[in-house]
This record gives sequence, structure tokens and C-alpha cells, in this order.
Amino acid sequence: MHRPLVVGTGIAGLWTAWRLASEGHHVLLATKATLQDSNTAWAQGGIAVALSAGDSPALHAADTIAASDGLADPIAVDVLVTEGPERVRELLELGASFDRSPDGTLRFGLEAAHSRPRIIHAAGDRTGAALIETLSRVVRADPRITIMERHLVRRIVKHEHRVVGVILQDEEGEALAFQAPAVVLATGGVGQLFEVTTNPPVATGDGWALAHAVGAELALLEFLQFHPTALSLAGVNPAPLLTEALRGAGAWLVDGTGHRFVFDSDDRGELAPRDIVARAVGIRAFRKDAFLDARHVDNVINRFPGVSALLEPLGLALDRDLLPVAPAMHYAMGGIRTDLAGRSTVAGLWAVGECANTGVHGANRLASNSLLEGLVFADRAGREIAREFAGGFPAPASLSPAPTDSDTGADGSAPALALIARMRSILTQEVGVVRTEPGLAEAEIALADLLARAPSGAWHTADQLRVAALIARAARGRRESRGGHRRADFPRPRPWSSE
Ligand SMILES: Cc1cc2nc3c(=O)[nH]c(=O)nc-3n(C[C@H](O)[C@H](O)[C@H](O)COP(=O)(O)OP(=O)(O)OC[C@H]3O[C@@H](n4cnc5c(N)ncnc54)[C@H](O)[C@@H]3O)c2cc1C
Repeated sequence: MHRPLVVGTGIAGLWTAWRLASEGHHVLLATKATLQDSNTAWAQGGIAVALSAGDSPALHAADTIAASDGLADPIAVDVLVTEGPERVRELLELGASFDRSPDGTLRFGLEAAHSRPRIIHAAGDRTGAALIETLSRVVRADPRITIMERHLVRRIVKHEHRVVGVILQDEEGEALAFQAPAVVLATGGVGQLFEVTTNPPVATGDGWALAHAVGAELALLEFLQFHPTALSLAGVNPAPLLTEALRGAGAWLVDGTGHRFVFDSDDRGELAPRDIVARAVGIRAFRKDAFLDARHVDNVINRFPGVSALLEPLGLALDRDLLPVAPAMHYAMGGIRTDLAGRSTVAGLWAVGECANTGVHGANRLASNSLLEGLVFADRAGREIAREFAGGFPAPASLSPAPTDSDTGADGSAPALALIARMRSILTQEVGVVRTEPGLAEAEIALADLLARAPSGAWHTADQLRVAALIARAARGRRESRGGHRRADFPRPRPWSSE
């Protein structure tokens, strides 16, 4: 059983496992719920890739860097846009089916802040679910990949400065130790730490907590992207996403009088970068006066079957109703700092996908670049691990002390759930779309107090509170407004930056 362990089965984890297997390695692939549970499965918009006529990696890079508000690493961006087309071709070879024009060529959509139509979709707005279907079939069919669903990684184990394995918790709550010469975190996002989010229940920031606990460096945690147009209905978690592609197709954002208010803050209107749109919507959503109007969009029901199916049980329809919207925590730009091959700052620990900070997004992600990042950097990590261990794995190290902490009930207890509810409310209010020094200071104190009150054995609750505190601290430390981080008290970007 001494083999690399990949944690998470979104696009990044599935691709890493497949790449490692195709390089000849046996792999363990652990995920805390099922293969269907991930941010990836929910992705509606599509994958950005420079493959259309008139497009080029250089144009894609320029748009990515412009969106990043000064903090993207141009080398990482270059890797993303130049290797992306090859990864998408491989996806096609593996059986992924993207939507095509009548002449059989791939159909490319336009999204906010892209200068060319370059977003490919699968099954209309079911891109993520279609990707998971394809990649799940591929990993299930590969005898070198052992899949462990409902196995939650609780702790990473280090021995002499190197990661040597993990402690997992199975469905019965039993703690199990696994040795692994390389642990790849592909644990996705942190949306569920916020009260209003588009992320599914599994997105609780576990990767950040696990990496932080073994001393791996985390970077740019303050940069969070709030999706401007989640359907705003009280008590609905996750908040249903009204995809960006709707605005790409011509839907408007209006107030109760029909005024297209985003033009008040940006000439690009509904196609302005996400953070600008999110703030414009946020101000009006507070007064319940922000709506998405897609009633005039041609053939809107057929073009957006996923959104339509989501609205139908709520008695709403894209071609009939004004849809109330609010910003929802959607995507984390920062994360576990990695090099261009996915290596974290701790030996033996790797990170790919949304939980990682590769440098491609900087302060703000260009729409539909995250699925591409998951593919490109997971592929690099898989190849690099295979290369590093081409001569064989180091002898397995002892995982002592063996896990004794099998007390797993405390996280679901009423006191723990109350702490989580409070944390989510604090983050949305004080560490949300617009932040201030007093609000962030208060958030830090309140989160520390919640952590001190975490019931004994509620380790997952405590982990989430620690990650929440790290985000609040990072946001407080950045005394400027840039990309996805907006400080009302420091409204402009600093003219210089140390990053
Ligand atoms: C509603 C929605 C729409 C989106 N639309 C788009 C889009 O159109 N285009 C685009 O590029 N991006 C989109 N995104 C963002 C994109 O989906 C994600 O950034 C991307 O899918 C992340 O992939 P990932 O593999 O890194 O993580 P995920 O897909 O989130 O997978 C994480 C995996 O880790 C597992 N996991 C977490 N913690 C543990 C643990 N402790 N132990 C074991 N397993 C664990 C989870 O169960 C899950 O399987 C969207 C996101 C959302 C929420």
C-alpha cells in the first residue's frame, strides 16, 4: 500500500490520479464524500482555452494578467495558457464531449473580461457534471487507481521534515493510518465557511487546514471571488448560481426600476470583471434591489437547461421572471503556495486545483480559468511525482504515534454546529465583498473566541475556525483594495506591491 495518495476527486484530483497511473504508478484516491461531490461537479460556465480561430495563448495570457490586478505570476500564466490546449485535447481523447457548432467544430462562448470567445461547454451549462462523468469513468476503469469514497483525510503525518502519510477517517468514523511517499491535496475551495456561497457542502477548506498544520506556506488567502449573481433566496445553501454565461449571452443586471446599474461603476457593464460586478450587486442586494433579467435573451430556456431546471421547482423561469440576486462566496484565488509542478513548501506534500496557489490568478481569477488550472497543474504534479520517484519510493516511515483520536461525534453536536453558523455569519458580514479595519479586527477576536469554545473532539469544527481566522488575518493585513479584496478604508491599490 506504499503509493502516492491523492486527496479529493474534483477535476484536479481525478486528473492527478489518472496522470500518475498513466505514468505507471499505483495510486490511492481518497475523497470525503462520493465522486459526485465537488465544486467541479457544479461548474456551469465552462473551460477557458485558446483554441478558437483568432485566439492565441498570448491573448489568453493578457486577459488573465489583466484580471489578476497586478499579482499574477506571468510564468505560471504562460504555463496555463500554453499547456491548456494540449490538456483539453487529451480530455477529448478520454471521451469528454464538448458542445459543437453545426459544422462539427468546438463552440466557443464569450465570458466577462475575455477578449475573445474561448469558453468551451459540455451539455450546455452542465460542464462540470459532464467532466466528472468522463473522468470518473476513466479512473474507475484503471486498475492502478484505488478509489476510497467516504474517506476523509483528518491529518497529515510528517517524519523528519517530510510528509510520510495521512490519518483518514472512514464512514464508520474509524481512524486509519496510511503511509504515502507523496500526498497530493486536491481538496478544493473554502466557500462553506461563508453564509452565502455557491460551493457545495464539501468545500470546507480542509486542504488549507491540513497544510497549515504541517507548516506549509499559504499565500494570498484574502483574495476571494464573490460570484455576483447567485439566486438570493433566504435559507438556501448553497446559493444557486446564475452562471456568468447568462450575462455573456446578453442578460442584464437591473434594479427595481429597470436601470442597468453596473454601468454606473464600469463602462463594460454586465461584462466587467467579477469583483466590480459583485460590489455593484452587493450594494443593491443589501436593499433587495438587484435582479438578473434574461427575459429578452434568445432561446434562453434551451441554452441554459441546467439553470432552468434549478429554477423550475422554485416557481421561477428565465424567460418570464426577474430573478433576485446577491453576491455569494465562490472561488479562492490564494491557497497552499506551490511551485510550477504543484510542490508545496513541505517535502512530500503537493497541492493542485483550487486549494493551491500556483500564481495564475493573482488577486482575481479570470472566469473559467480554474477548471483549466486544475487540469494543467494536476498534470504537471502527476508527471513530476512520477519523475521524482522513477527510481522507486523511499522506505515507508513509521506513522507513530498511531491514531487514537477516533472521537468523531463532536463535530455534528449542537454546540459545534452553532459555532460554525456563527463563523459563517461573521465571515460573510466582515470578511465579505467589502471589508474594514474595525470589522476585520472584530472578526479576528470573535473567531478566536469561537475556537476557544470548540468542544473537545470537534476537530473539523476547529479546523474550519482556524482557516476562517487565517482568512480574516490575511484580509486585515492587506491595507489596500485590489482584485477580489476590497477595503472600504483603503479604497485604492498600493502603488507598489511586495508580491
Ligand atoms: C457553482 C460553481 C460553478 C463554477 N463554474 C465554473 C466554471 O464554469 N468554470 C471554471 O473554470 N470554474 C468554475 N467554478 C470553479 C471550479 O468549479 C473549481 O474551482 C474547480 O472545480 C475546483 O476543482 P478542484 O478539483 O480543485 O476541487 P473540487 O472540485 O472542489 O474537489 C475537491 C475534492 O476534495 C474533496 N475533499 C475536500 N476535503 C477533503 C478531505 N479532508 N478528505 C478527503 N477529501 C476531501 C471533496 O470532497 C472533493 O472531492 C465553479 C464553481 C462553482 C461552485
